[in-house]
Amino acid sequence: MNQIGVLMTYPMFTHLEKELENRYKLFRQWTLQEHELEHLLEQNAHMIKAVVACAEVGINKKMINLLPRLEIVATFSVGYDKIDLNKCIENDIKVTNTPDVVTEDVADLAIALALSTLRKICVCDGFVRKGLWKIGDFSSNVSFKFTGKSVGIVGLGRIGSAIAKRAEAFNCPVSYYSRSRKLNNNYKYYTNIIDLAANCQILFVACSLTEETRYIVNRDVLNALGREGILINIGRGLHVEESELVSALLEGRLGGAGIDVFENEPDVPDQLFGLDNVVLLPHVGTSTMETCTEMANLVIKNLEAHFKNGPLLTPVL
Ligand code: NAP
Repeated sequence: MNQIGVLMTYPMFTHLEKELENRYKLFRQWTLQEHELEHLLEQNAHMIKAVVACAEVGINKKMINLLPRLEIVATFSVGYDKIDLNKCIENDIKVTNTPDVVTEDVADLAIALALSTLRKICVCDGFVRKGLWKIGDFSSNVSFKFTGKSVGIVGLGRIGSAIAKRAEAFNCPVSYYSRSRKLNNNYKYYTNIIDLAANCQILFVACSLTEETRYIVNRDVLNALGREGILINIGRGLHVEESELVSALLEGRLGGAGIDVFENEPDVPDQLFGLDNVVLLPHVGTSTMETCTEMANLVIKNLEAHFKNGPLLTPVL
């Protein structure tokens, strides 16, 4: 086992790094400058059979070409939009992800973002922390109710369904847009995102990122959601046309936004920093100790299954 080399693309989770190090010869891509990485690959590409990727750093065609012995890419994420799947198919490289174990956390965070945005929790917290409560009155700064608001969900998959279930507990009527109608619920189905946005007060983006869903939330969708509408994005930054989101917020055409994912992470448009109706998170949908541990264990089990020629637990390819 020690002769198998594993390239980890990004510092995702210390427990995973340690577990990989215990089993394989581990190479850490993020610690290297480009020329150092090239040198490392010249020396070690023959032994690197696995890449452990994540939502932040996947693997592109160029890197795959530099790894002729690559057999498997195991991503520490559900989304695999940063992995060149076509190239993996072409080179007969397996791909695994970490579905299901992340669902509850991401849905929890989506609801937390809706509550924080509507109830201005971060603004209230800042008011107390800055010592402003002692010298000023906050009572005129009223917030908005979450319970009972109509919720629209883009992508009623694992995470979208978990958001819907939570929203139901808040007495929110739920509707959704996906490529196909789901028959296992009574939520209202819209055949397009504009109609969904026009008929809900809070729009959650929870679909996977593909060529079709890139910029699925554009100016027209934001205008349909409207000046009292709230956008919550826990999908991927590229689902939302960020420059349009910024202008909609600055011009008061959108009521507010709670965002965990951005177009050019870790860069966030600084025009958003001064807005009270916006909550900004550094892509932490799955970042609980419990879920990261489960994701790490799934990555390890997929690698072990692969190198023992067993069935993969959560194959994408
Ligand atoms: P999933 O079960 O595969 O659900 C994806 C949903 O996207 C499906 O309901 C699918 O519905 C919908 N979809 C795909 N293409 C679409 C299109 N063209 N138009 C409308 N809907 C479309 O995946 P999941 O586990 O719920 O995860 C969803 C995404 O959440 C991931 O891909 C990832 O990008 C993101 N995520 C973010 C975080 C975070 O930290 N913020 C963490 C985990 C996951 P149909 O097939 O019916 O269209």
